Amino acid sequence: DSTAASNFIRDIVLADRAAGKNGGRVVTRFPPEPNGHLHIGHAKAICLNFGLAQEDPEGICHLRFDDTNPTTEDLSYVQSIEDDVRWLGFDWRGKLFFASDYFEQLYGFAERLITKGLAYVDSLTADEMRSYRGTLTEPGKNSPYRDRSAEDNLKLFRQMRAGEFPDGTHVLRAKIDMASPNMNLRDPVLYRIRHAAHYRTGADWCIYPAYDYAHPLSDAIEGITHSICTLEFEDHRPLYDWVVAEAEPRHRPQQIEFARLNIEHAVMSKRKLLELVERKLVAGWDDPRLPTLKGFRRRGYTPDAIRAFCDHLGVAKRDAVVEMQLLESFIREDLNKRSQRVMAVLKPLKIVIENYPADETEELDAVNNPEDPSTGTRKVPFSKTLYIEQDDFLEEPPKEFFRLAPGREVRLRYAYIIKCVRAVKDPVSGQVTELHCTYDPETKSGAAQAKRKVKATIHWVSAAHAVKADVRLYNPLLTTDLTEVPPDHDWTTYLNPQSLEVLSNCLVEPSLNKVVPGAKFQFERLGYFCADPDSMPGKPVFNRTVSLKDAWAR
Ligand code: ATP
Ligand code: MG
Ligand code: MG
Repeated sequence: DSTAASNFIRDIVLADRAAGKNGGRVVTRFPPEPNGHLHIGHAKAICLNFGLAQEDPEGICHLRFDDTNPTTEDLSYVQSIEDDVRWLGFDWRGKLFFASDYFEQLYGFAERLITKGLAYVDSLTADEMRSYRGTLTEPGKNSPYRDRSAEDNLKLFRQMRAGEFPDGTHVLRAKIDMASPNMNLRDPVLYRIRHAAHYRTGADWCIYPAYDYAHPLSDAIEGITHSICTLEFEDHRPLYDWVVAEAEPRHRPQQIEFARLNIEHAVMSKRKLLELVERKLVAGWDDPRLPTLKGFRRRGYTPDAIRAFCDHLGVAKRDAVVEMQLLESFIREDLNKRSQRVMAVLKPLKIVIENYPADETEELDAVNNPEDPSTGTRKVPFSKTLYIEQDDFLEEPPKEFFRLAPGREVRLRYAYIIKCVRAVKDPVSGQVTELHCTYDPETKSGAAQAKRKVKATIHWVSAAHAVKADVRLYNPLLTTDLTEVPPDHDWTTYLNPQSLEVLSNCLVEPSLNKVVPGAKFQFERLGYFCADPDSMPGKPVFNRTVSLKDAWAR
């Protein structure tokens, strides 16, 4: 479909298709490095790349693992990323690739560059290379090894591949221009020696290609038409074009840059996410406080809402920071449509209905989802002893408080109007421990004579039937924005100690006795909640996905 918000990359792609460029086809790719789990920033890139391909009946988006770095990558990340892309609702339709599968081809291209006199083996130390590189205001100096003959270079490069040299002794560099105002063109490194096993190619290689070399050529090999990346690669584009033109000129993928997605107060760098996980500052990659797709999923965020959020943002050429509340509003909107309503009491206060028979239980009809009448109704048990929310009672209510108070009436959702006749207090602490109420049998919800109006309706559960539950509430993980943290500060000192609040005396209606992890509910008046994988029969665990309204808008 073509419901995606207009964006400048889409305009380029549409114009190229209309002009018949690349045979009128669009081939994009999503190229994650399998060195961590995906986060919401990656979702933006996924929606963009897969979305553009979907708009072309013949379009395709490849999933390519950019796995050219042997020391940080792992198969478990590959599997997790595939799972997350599918969960978001996208399909690479069999076009699954690994840059490591191109190692032999990339090596061949490098020999070609050497033969053309466009690459050389440099034997300066890393420190020397840095000082030869010059600065933004001063041109660099040519390495003394720059004029090695093609034959010598080929011989040395083959020895590098054969493992004859230790790490760091030689590199292969492109021969471009040490005086270029663009630092990326000052003879960039194409290959490094690294005696390290790779998760897919094992010990086959001890030289590994640099990103700026492997990435454009992987795009060219796959026939990518539009290679979309984030803005920090804008200065690399001349190198991207140089590499393709000199090594594999049959294909000319076009690199287009867009602004990365930044979300206020969110940890969006894989390195920092890994630090949180490794130092056990969070429960794991799927901790619901993290902006990882695994964390969002466990928290109850839906792929539909994440896609709608990404489409809504469009694509920009300038970095901006988005508020988490914006994403939350999309989550809320989607969950409002799809979640079953239930009653749950997070902080219970006991009430006894004095004039209700002790041995009676009524089964009352409760609406499952007013947004979706096809979901029907369910039965909720009502009896003499109930629990309501502590917050729904005040002994000395201020003027604007319309809920329960001594002598006051409220309606119990799906049930009756009750009146509080007495608050029982703990003689020592003075705290209210239970309420005695009466009910008006004439006011049963749905009954003909239920017309009498009161100012508030509150939720409740029946004491004898309710199920005990754990509920986890989440608050922002950080107390400040990371851009405000000086680089010499330990950023983890800005973690919010209140980011996780566990409520372990919650009571939920009996329909929640057995929940499937991932099941989504609206706890009436409280918010959206999702069953956690830690749930057990008779002991459900819920994560608060998002409150019912934006706390700031209330
Ligand atoms: P990180 O900075 O978290 O380590 P990365 O960019 O190194 O992320 P990759 O695995 O290389 O991670 O990312 C795969 C793709 O996702 C890249 O094309 C990258 O441009 C894109 N991407 C990553 N982060 C964002 C973001 N915040 N917004 C938009 N796109 C992103
Ligand atoms: Mg990257
Ligand atoms: Mg990275």
